[in-house]
Amino acid sequence: MVLAALGVALVLKQFLASPNVALVFLTAVLASAVAYGLWPSLFGCLLSVFAYNFFFLMPLYTVTVTDPENVVALFFFVIVAVIVSNLTSRVRSQAIAASERARTTEELYQFSRKLTGAIDLDDLLWATAYQIASMLHLRVILLLPGAGGLAVRTGYPPDDEMDAADIAAAEHCLQKNLATGVGTTDRPDAHWMFLPIRTGRGAVGVVGLSGEDADPQLKPEQRRLLEALSDQAALAIERVNLAADVDRARLTAETDRLRTALLTSISHDLRTPLASILGAATSLRTHPGELDVAEQGEMIRTIQEEAERLNRFIGNLLDMTRLESGAIAPQVTVVDLSELVGSALERCAKILAAHRVEVRLAPSLPMLKLDVVLFEQVLFNLLDNAAKYSPAGSTITVEADCANGWVEFRLLDRGDGIPVSDLERIFDKFYRVHAADRRRAGTGLGLAICRGFVEALGGSIRAGNRSDGNGATFTITLPVPEGATQFVEEVAS
Ligand code: ADP
Repeated sequence: MVLAALGVALVLKQFLASPNVALVFLTAVLASAVAYGLWPSLFGCLLSVFAYNFFFLMPLYTVTVTDPENVVALFFFVIVAVIVSNLTSRVRSQAIAASERARTTEELYQFSRKLTGAIDLDDLLWATAYQIASMLHLRVILLLPGAGGLAVRTGYPPDDEMDAADIAAAEHCLQKNLATGVGTTDRPDAHWMFLPIRTGRGAVGVVGLSGEDADPQLKPEQRRLLEALSDQAALAIERVNLAADVDRARLTAETDRLRTALLTSISHDLRTPLASILGAATSLRTHPGELDVAEQGEMIRTIQEEAERLNRFIGNLLDMTRLESGAIAPQVTVVDLSELVGSALERCAKILAAHRVEVRLAPSLPMLKLDVVLFEQVLFNLLDNAAKYSPAGSTITVEADCANGWVEFRLLDRGDGIPVSDLERIFDKFYRVHAADRRRAGTGLGLAICRGFVEALGGSIRAGNRSDGNGATFTITLPVPEGATQFVEEVAS
């Protein structure tokens, strides 16, 4: 640059006085400060003084200056050139620092966005290790505490290993919440420098760093950057851990809720019939002579009915257990729905004694492939509910028809119906619309079993309310097996 300035100055010398030529050299100093910084521009400054003196100040082509005016000019040239190179190089380094800061901020921002999107802890740790390694140009390892103590969760590059001294230093770092390992005063014999990854509540993990010859030799700005990265990572790790805790807590609460529901229902449903049985049996035993035949008959009937109720309840519990363990394997046979309805109604005769039952089955129903035992249990549970939840003397309607390859079976009652918000939930285990309803014994299992069985048979069940007045409807849809119509004809012939 000074050479170029010298060329220009020699040309200008033909037209201008030599003091003006100094400005050309000043331009060269300024340009070198902008392009290369302080030291190259000071060197340029030195060369300029020499060239200016040698080629332009009298006596020419010597390094001596005789004219006092020229001495002053040279002196001020030096002062101005040094100030210019200083100021310009400072502005340059500020501009460089600002653009580096902007790049770092942008990278940190991208990193924080990446962390916000990470749901999985492994993804998050990998992103953190990669980011620290690429921004600080160091080898990185991340350790988190687990059931068996502190363990390496990820690293960049991924194949780094640690020996016992390293693990001990890392553990110390986590416990004491301060830097340990090489380059620190605490256990400097380790191969890594360990720094805690911490939130306001303490260290959540440890980051290990290693440079060319182990000691990462972090500069202050690198340390600040590392702190920014590890703070962000710490928050994200805590967020993922908290989410996992919430899930665990929800699961525990759900299990507790089920256990409480089960215990409440068992204690009620076992104790009520047992108390009646015990009461009746005790009366029969202690006052055998005092009871007339009718009273004795009544008590024996109570014992039988309550024992049957107990039996149903335990049957329900067993069915539910079989469903949950996946032990339900339907024994499918070809059956006539009307026969099945008939036998279910017979089984429910006692329960339905106080109701009128109306059966409206379409005449041309195809034969269905069903497990007789399972489907009869479904019908039984539905009829039992209809009897329980509709007033004595009301009508229960059983309907079935066939369309588009599906048979639709409906059971309608004249009870209070089901609140719209509960239409789905009543099929949940242990769910009862009126949980505290002690008047009507129930476990909240009946409909859950119905849905489990119907789905095992390839059908579906849904609940609704009647459109022609009050009352609930339960609709079961079952597929008509292929070739079912021919089978009916064969049977007919
Ligand atoms: P439960 O043993 O309580 O009858 P279910 O699983 O059979 O258990 O039924 C769940 C809940 O659905 C019942 O507690 C009841 O509130 C509601 N429900 C079932 N059937 C009917 C119906 N026919 N009419 C009104 N509500 C019903």
